[in-house]
Amino acid sequence: MLIKVLGAAAGGGFPQWNCGCPNCRDLRSGALAAQPLTQESVAVSADGERWVLLNASPEIRSQIESCPALHPRGPRHSPISAIVLTNGDLDHSLGLLSLRESHPLMIYATERVRRGFTERNVLYRTLERFPGQVTWRTVEPGEDADLGGLSIGALPAPGKPPIHLEGNGPSEPGDNIGLLIRDQRRGKRLAYFSAAAAVTVSMRAAFDAADCVFFDGTFWASDELIALGLGDKRAEQMAHLPVGGKDGSLQALAGVRAPRRIYIHVNNTNPLLRPRSPERVQAEAEGWEVAYDGMEVDL
Ligand SMILES: [Zn+2]
Repeated sequence: MLIKVLGAAAGGGFPQWNCGCPNCRDLRSGALAAQPLTQESVAVSADGERWVLLNASPEIRSQIESCPALHPRGPRHSPISAIVLTNGDLDHSLGLLSLRESHPLMIYATERVRRGFTERNVLYRTLERFPGQVTWRTVEPGEDADLGGLSIGALPAPGKPPIHLEGNGPSEPGDNIGLLIRDQRRGKRLAYFSAAAAVTVSMRAAFDAADCVFFDGTFWASDELIALGLGDKRAEQMAHLPVGGKDGSLQALAGVRAPRRIYIHVNNTNPLLRPRSPERVQAEAEGWEVAYDGMEVDL
């Protein structure tokens, strides 16, 4: 299985257009030797020919252009055979509206995420220009999709609805999923959980059985935005388990048997983005990598 990270950042990217936090400021000035990051999206393939996108970020056009494997091989063609959404956050779904150039799209999502994106959304009509422009397929726990040599299954992950749909009732299991992707020929397994408010018993078991885990690296600390004066919500209120601290994911996932363990969906405020920060050193000492745009993993 080939895995290409098109974008490794959380919503807003790195640097974020309206952010002058130390990381964004130092990246712009050159004081921080790090690379800019676009918003989270990953491409996976069993054969290098047909690709599945995990999430459709607002930067999808430049992300596709950055990756020759995703370029057309004919006058009207795309090697992207399907797009899978892990939740309805705009940093995961807004890119769908940018793929409006009259090309049939196959989109996998939970029913809850599909309805959140399509209902009462007048802009969605740009993807209804001709019959069959979008084919929605439901991805549900226990019902694996078969996509070009990859089996793609879903596992509910503690989460919440996107911000623009908050207030429409309580969170439901279909609001946020992780993906369990298996290469049917080689048997290799990827567990992809770019947003998670907690680690469930089922998630832990899946991580132990995986060859590679991508996990929510949004915030290092629960009070990261509060301490920087950038917001009033704790990481948990935004349904992100922080990486650090006694209740963080480094602790919760200590001893996970997956050989590759990679943080993704990293917010621009996170000290993990500073290559020599104590937090980065700690995460790497515990066997974790931090995703970056252009990262490739071959399982
Ligand atoms: Zn920032």
